Amino acid sequence: MKVSQRIQDLAESGTIAVSNKVAALRAEGIDVVSLGAGEPDFDTPDHIKQAASAALDRGETKYAKPASGVAELKTAVIDKLARENNLTYAPDQIIATIGGKEGLYLAFATLLDPSDEVIIPTPYWVSYPEQVKLVGGVPVFIDAGAASGFKITPDQLRTAITPRTRAFVFNSPSNPTGAAYSPEETDALAAVLADTDVITLSDEMYDRLLFGGQEFKSFAATSTHAYDHTLTFNAGSKTFSMTGWRIGYAAGPVELIKGMSKLQTQTTSGAATFTMHAMAAALNGDQTCVDEMRDAFESRGRFVSEALNRLEGVACPAPGGAFYVFPDVSDTFASLGVSGSTAWAGRLLEESHVGVVPGSDFGNDACVRLSFATSMDTLEEAMRRIEAFLD
Ligand code: PLP
Repeated sequence: MKVSQRIQDLAESGTIAVSNKVAALRAEGIDVVSLGAGEPDFDTPDHIKQAASAALDRGETKYAKPASGVAELKTAVIDKLARENNLTYAPDQIIATIGGKEGLYLAFATLLDPSDEVIIPTPYWVSYPEQVKLVGGVPVFIDAGAASGFKITPDQLRTAITPRTRAFVFNSPSNPTGAAYSPEETDALAAVLADTDVITLSDEMYDRLLFGGQEFKSFAATSTHAYDHTLTFNAGSKTFSMTGWRIGYAAGPVELIKGMSKLQTQTTSGAATFTMHAMAAALNGDQTCVDEMRDAFESRGRFVSEALNRLEGVACPAPGGAFYVFPDVSDTFASLGVSGSTAWAGRLLEESHVGVVPGSDFGNDACVRLSFATSMDTLEEAMRRIEAFLD
C-alpha cells in the first residue's frame, strides 16, 4: 500500500524505537534497565487526578467550549505566566493543546510557507525538524557541542539568519542535553532578534525543573519586542508528571494563536475537556509536588553525571535542568569497534541490557541520551552495567 511521500520522508521517533526494543527484550524474559523514556517516573499528584474525576462527575464530557480551552484553564495559564514568568496575557492569546507537541505543530503550520527557514540549535528535541519539514519548512541547524555546554552563542544565531528565516526554536532547559541558559544568556540571544521579524518558539516544558537554584527567564520576558515575537509552549507532561494526559498550552501574539486555533478546530478539536480542568488544578494548586520532583531529579542528575565522568573516554556536562544527560562517548568508539552513537547504543542494549537513545536522533552522533527520570536503584544498576560494558 502506497503512503504519501510526506510520510515516507518522516523519520521514526528514535526514543520510541528504543522503547520498542526494550519491550521486545523484556518479553524474552531479559532484565533490561531502560534510561530511554523521557517521562517522569512519579505518579500524577492526587489533587490533579481528583480535579479530573470531579470534572467527569460534573459531566464535563463534551467538546470543550471553546476548543482552544475552557475559561478556567485559560485563567489558570494566564495566572501562571504572570506569577512565574512575568508575562501578561489575555484569554485570546492562550490556546490549550494536546500536550506540548500539538502546540508546536500548530505553530509551525501557522507560521511557515514552503521554503521558510527555521533555526534549530543542535542537539535538538527530535520532533522539531520533522514537524518543520512536514509543513514544507526548512530546518537550519546551529551546532552547539559539549565544549560550549550545548548552548549556542549570539554570534552563531546572528550568522544563521537569512532573508528566509521565519522562526527560531529555543528550548531551555533542554531535551536532550539538560543544558539551561541563564537569564543573561537568554537576554543576549533575544537581543540578536530585536531588529528582525523572526518569531521565537520558546519551548518551556522544563521551566520548573531547573537545578542549583538557577532563575528561569522566559524568552518572551526579555523585552517588549520579544514579547510581540514569541510563542511560549508548556504542558503538564514534565512539570506535573502528566505525560499520558496529553495536555499543554501555548501563549503569544493574538493573530498566531487565532491561526493555531483555526487549524485545531479542523484537525483535533482540541484537548479533552476534563484534562483541561485537571491542568487548571495543577497550575492553581499547591506546587510542593513540583519542588519535590525537581529535587529528586537534581540529585539523580548529579549522581549520573558524576558516575559517567568517572568513566574513561566519557565526558558528561552536569545537567542544568530537565531530566537528561547527554554524555560524549565518542572516545570509546574505537576500542568498542563502533562507528557512531547508534551502534554504541545498540551494543549497550544487546550486551549489557541498558537502553539509552543514540545522539544521532538528536543531531549529534558523538553522544547518547540517558534519562534519569527513574529510581536511584535503577540508575545505580545502569551505571554498574555501563562501567562493565566499557571496561
Ligand atoms: N518539547 C520537549 C523539549 C519535550 O521534551 C517534549 C516531550 O518529550 C515535548 C516538547 C512534548 O511534550 P508533550 O508530551 O507534552 O507533548
